[in-house]
Amino acid sequence: MGRRRWRPSSASRSPGTKGRSARARCCPRPALEIYFDGVRALPDGVWTRGSCPWCGGAAGYGDLLEDGRRRLSCHLCGGAWIAARLRCPFCESWNSRDLARLVAEDLEAAYFIEGCRACRGYVKGVDRRQRWNAGPPLVEDWGSPHLDLHAAREGYWRATPSLAHLLPPEAGDAR
Ligand SMILES: [Zn+2]
Ligand SMILES: [Zn+2]
Repeated sequence: MGRRRWRPSSASRSPGTKGRSARARCCPRPALEIYFDGVRALPDGVWTRGSCPWCGGAAGYGDLLEDGRRRLSCHLCGGAWIAARLRCPFCESWNSRDLARLVAEDLEAAYFIEGCRACRGYVKGVDRRQRWNAGPPLVEDWGSPHLDLHAAREGYWRATPSLAHLLPPEAGDAR
């Protein structure tokens, strides 16, 4: 499957409801980051849920750190936490057979999409052992709308909107 490149459209320059939804999700973040500053420390193993331990938001990105641990990130408040590698953050299934790694043949190395066959949710991620200079989770997430389109074509959904969702339905398959 060929990779679609991101093409700004008139709709993306003047986003509608979905665009406002994407922006609204990140607007409280600066205030929340200040509010939560100083209480972000979380010992490993204390929090085992797939949602954000500070604000309850859904996981927006899931990357692999240099030591191989999986880190989920919350775009709403900027929090991040260590999570189990083989557990869906949405339906919290532990069944490894439910997990699918969705990657197109010509996608960049180290970037991946992890989907759940049980609930059809997905998160994108980057393996920082291979891509040590990758940017912050929100930047990497918003900078890879082609991965969202790929996941949408495969029948998966994501809990938090991203830039790909600024596209009108006829220009992209992500909804
Ligand atoms: Zn949060
Ligand atoms: Zn699931």
